[in-house]
Amino acid sequence: MSQFSRRKILAAGAAGGALTATAAAHAAGVFGNPDMPPQGQMNSTPGAFAEPGPQDPVMASQVASFGNPPPTDVGGLPAFWSSFNLAPKRVQGGGWARQVNTEMFPISKDIAGVNMRLGAGGIRELHWHQQAEWAVMVYGSCRVTAVDQNGHAFVDDVKAGDLWYFPAGVPHSLQGLGPDGCEFVIAFDNGASSENNTLLVSEWIAHTPPEVLAKNFGVPESAFANIPLQQRWIFQGKVPGPLANDVNEIMPGAGPVPNPFVFRLSSMKPNKQTKSGMVQIQDSTNFKAATTVASALVTVKPGGMREMHWHPTADEWQYFIKGTGRMTLFNVGPKAITADFNPGDVGYVPKNFGHYVENTGTDDLVFMEIFKTNKYEEISLTDWLAHTPSAMVQQTLNLSPETIAKFSRTVQDVVPA
Ligand code: MN
Ligand code: MN
Repeated sequence: MSQFSRRKILAAGAAGGALTATAAAHAAGVFGNPDMPPQGQMNSTPGAFAEPGPQDPVMASQVASFGNPPPTDVGGLPAFWSSFNLAPKRVQGGGWARQVNTEMFPISKDIAGVNMRLGAGGIRELHWHQQAEWAVMVYGSCRVTAVDQNGHAFVDDVKAGDLWYFPAGVPHSLQGLGPDGCEFVIAFDNGASSENNTLLVSEWIAHTPPEVLAKNFGVPESAFANIPLQQRWIFQGKVPGPLANDVNEIMPGAGPVPNPFVFRLSSMKPNKQTKSGMVQIQDSTNFKAATTVASALVTVKPGGMREMHWHPTADEWQYFIKGTGRMTLFNVGPKAITADFNPGDVGYVPKNFGHYVENTGTDDLVFMEIFKTNKYEEISLTDWLAHTPSAMVQQTLNLSPETIAKFSRTVQDVVPA
């Protein structure tokens, strides 16, 4: 039932005024917020519900459910909504980056997000870091390189819908390809990570005495006369040649990495597909290199919903790519809070918090669920109730056996199926 039609039922039960409406609702046993004191707009008056103070209507419209929550929302939860649209950019020649980490989004303990753009030829400098790096491409194409701890080399080109994963400490580089570079979102497997806190090859070289460099690399000191004296981080380079040339150049030696650092998520066969959408899941079982980050690419058609569920083993970090959606989180308290999401927004669901995501628009809603774990896991509310003795569910929720018999006995993920 939509929020609108539910409101209509509530309003119908509320004839006679706000205060008596609540009592009437309880007496009649209609849907609504059963907690005391009563919450929700239907328990207010137009005057008391208004916001006569200063307004930013554009900002308020982006998360309309904060200002006008569903009547079933109660209590408070830590902020689980943020957005790359709110994050300031660090801009240099060749590209830019902005990030949502625990400095601005304290709940996101497991994952820090970085949104980066590299123009054609733009280079994210050779570097490494303390945490693993998972990423999803959202635009254009990019060449990635890496070398592992056994000297195995890796180079590949990625496009929108592809993932990469570099284990902690594995050095790598990124470069935008033609015709228009790339944009992507990185998830570090530590929420306190920062794109400004990575080990840069330019800084190490600049802060090593020339005689040590000469001894280390077996070349004269004069060979280092033109090294950059400041870090590069992101800088404009030349668009590289064909991928095959780079492969042929770097593979002699220990050869390729045993498990590729790239995975083509958006072109894999969906794990679940219904008339309302699909889910494509990546974890260490199909992307062997990705030992600490799992993800699901979720597509929900207009009118559809990512079903009521939770994740027993890991927090969920969400990145919204297309369309508009609305998510409600549920936790003990009871607490239930709803937020709206647009492209570029970020959500966070602590493990075991119940949640569902509705498509509120007229286009497909596409978002990613990202987890700090080696194995994707979820529990579906419908699946749980369908595989519990019917008498138990009947007595608990006052449901008829006929209703329970209609619950799907397989996990659907996107409903209606
Ligand atoms: Mn990196
Ligand atoms: Mn989820």
